[in-house]
Amino acid sequence: MSRFFLTTAIDYVNSRPHLGTAYEKITADVIARYQRLLGVETHFLMGNDEHSQNVFRRAREQGLDPVAYCDRMEREFRDVWARLDVSFDDFIRTTEERHRVGVTAMVQRIADRGDLYDAFYEGPYCVSCEAFKPEKDLVDGLCPIHLTKPEWIREKNHFFRLSKYRDALLAHFRAHPEFLEPEVRRNEILRLLESGLEDISISRAGQLWGIPLPFDPSSVVYVWFDALINYASAVGFGRDEALFEHWWPASLHVIGKDITRFHCVVWPAMLMSAGLPLPKQVFGHGFVHFKGQKMSKSLGTVLDPLEAAGRFGPDPLRLYLVKEIAYGQDGDFSWERFEERYNVDLANNLGNLVNRLAVMVEKYRGGRLPAAGAPGRLAGVAAQSVARYRAAMDAFALHEGAAAAFALVDAANEHIAETEPWTLARRGEQDRLTQVLSDVVEAVRIAAVLLLPVMPRSCAEILRRLGEGRDASQVRFDADTAWAGNRERQILRADPLWPRIDTRKDETMTDKPDVPVSPVPSVPPAAMPAEPQPAPAAPAAAPAPASQPAAAGEEKIGIEEFGRLEFRVARVLAAEKVKGSKKLIKMQIDLGTEQRTIVAGIAEAYEAEALVNRSIVVVANLKPAKLMGIESNGMVLAASPEGGKPVLLGFVEPPPPPGSRVR
Ligand code: ZN
Repeated sequence: MSRFFLTTAIDYVNSRPHLGTAYEKITADVIARYQRLLGVETHFLMGNDEHSQNVFRRAREQGLDPVAYCDRMEREFRDVWARLDVSFDDFIRTTEERHRVGVTAMVQRIADRGDLYDAFYEGPYCVSCEAFKPEKDLVDGLCPIHLTKPEWIREKNHFFRLSKYRDALLAHFRAHPEFLEPEVRRNEILRLLESGLEDISISRAGQLWGIPLPFDPSSVVYVWFDALINYASAVGFGRDEALFEHWWPASLHVIGKDITRFHCVVWPAMLMSAGLPLPKQVFGHGFVHFKGQKMSKSLGTVLDPLEAAGRFGPDPLRLYLVKEIAYGQDGDFSWERFEERYNVDLANNLGNLVNRLAVMVEKYRGGRLPAAGAPGRLAGVAAQSVARYRAAMDAFALHEGAAAAFALVDAANEHIAETEPWTLARRGEQDRLTQVLSDVVEAVRIAAVLLLPVMPRSCAEILRRLGEGRDASQVRFDADTAWAGNRERQILRADPLWPRIDTRKDETMTDKPDVPVSPVPSVPPAAMPAEPQPAPAAPAAAPAPASQPAAAGEEKIGIEEFGRLEFRVARVLAAEKVKGSKKLIKMQIDLGTEQRTIVAGIAEAYEAEALVNRSIVVVANLKPAKLMGIESNGMVLAASPEGGKPVLLGFVEPPPPPGSRVR
């Protein structure tokens, strides 16, 4: 069985996890879950870097013993990783005994090799960087990262003969171009190697916090040297040879692009000196910039993107970070963009598809979908998506992998629009209807398998709704991305997975009714929204007082009569102005089990584009009527204030799924 040992950088515990830390762990988690999906024996290591002087100081400031402080931070980190569904197999802390044993053994091996020597280090040292800062790296005497004046230190240190390994490193890079990805990082390191390497200090004198050198207990191992060794000490180096043999060398170190020098120069040189094989690959990801100054209109004051996981579950955040940022490059997170992608990819696209499918199978087949005949056209699209996904994921192009899965989701949605299952049902084309439903179920099922690494929780739920009886951890790439339309399936209907975020809420709440320049011209009857309104559904701030309630003297109707009117929630899929008409907008709407064309006289109040994806209320059982040659099947409800423009009925809360009855 093949194996995959995957690590991330271990984190300083002097601050809580933030979006940048989470980005690294989530993307590494996607890689780990993908390997497990392939059936590869996977070991995913994460951890905390605790031997930092900053940690020591922070603990002192809080009046805590450093280990007690680190214990507390470990709980905070583990809590965040659990909330984001990060599925590490092991979590190492550098204060653990197993790490002390590993570091001691590694330093001793390097010393035995003759690669350490004593010398005085004198020069600037940035405590925040925990790094010696050669004068040439300072800007106006300050650390360019922290803009603080480095300390001047003079102490006897132990130095590692890094310069000795320059040629061997260059040779390794040339023989293994895949060693460091992406290419831009590799070129940086190659330039660095070509310009020559200086030996580095690996110890700090007179420090209390750290692992003492075996041959000089008055010094501790420098925190960076200490930290790198976690990748080996976690899997038994220095204490459990069989375990170490099993997992070493690591398959992949996932790290931030700012620490490639440590991982691709210092660490391999340490391993060469210790006579150990090098990791197979290092991936240096980019940074996510949080465009966080602007607050979200519809979500209120949310400052930490990690809160998105609390409000929407971890999967929408995971999908955003994986799909919207090319892996290896920098990217942005903004709440506006998060909401947009949530509504487009999840609420409207995948979530709506899962829901419509369940509604149709329930309505037309009583929830039990029989086996279909030969695979239809979608099977070919699925095979292409699966192949594209595999190639992308194997090359760590996680964003392309996610996009390939969503291409299949799009194709499934288009297939419904083209084949119109509701028309097949009306015409009694039973075999064809079964075939179409089965094809779409298969496409969604396969897309959910592909997206399992990215959105583990919701894709497991989608598979469950599509009749998958096994636990999602049992699902395997090869077997389960194969087309299987020849199976009977029980399809479950349940609540929408991702209710829309209503980004227009605030507008609705604060819009003042426009003062009309001219009276609203009359509107053809079939689209006329001026009939009596079911008042409770009107938006709170709709200018209702302006419209006259039904006159007291008018004849009242019975509940039976009201019951004959079928009001339903619909979602606008597409909208365009009717050519040659000032007032009419033609809309394609989703009624849950079917799509329809509807024409409404609201063009003077609404831009057609702004209506797309909006949830509205329609009279669903109205006789069709022709307007400007277009058949309108139903009528949109809107309030018609005296002398004002029509105001569409909508929802202040997240809208119910299309097709919901309004009473
Ligand atoms: Zn600094």
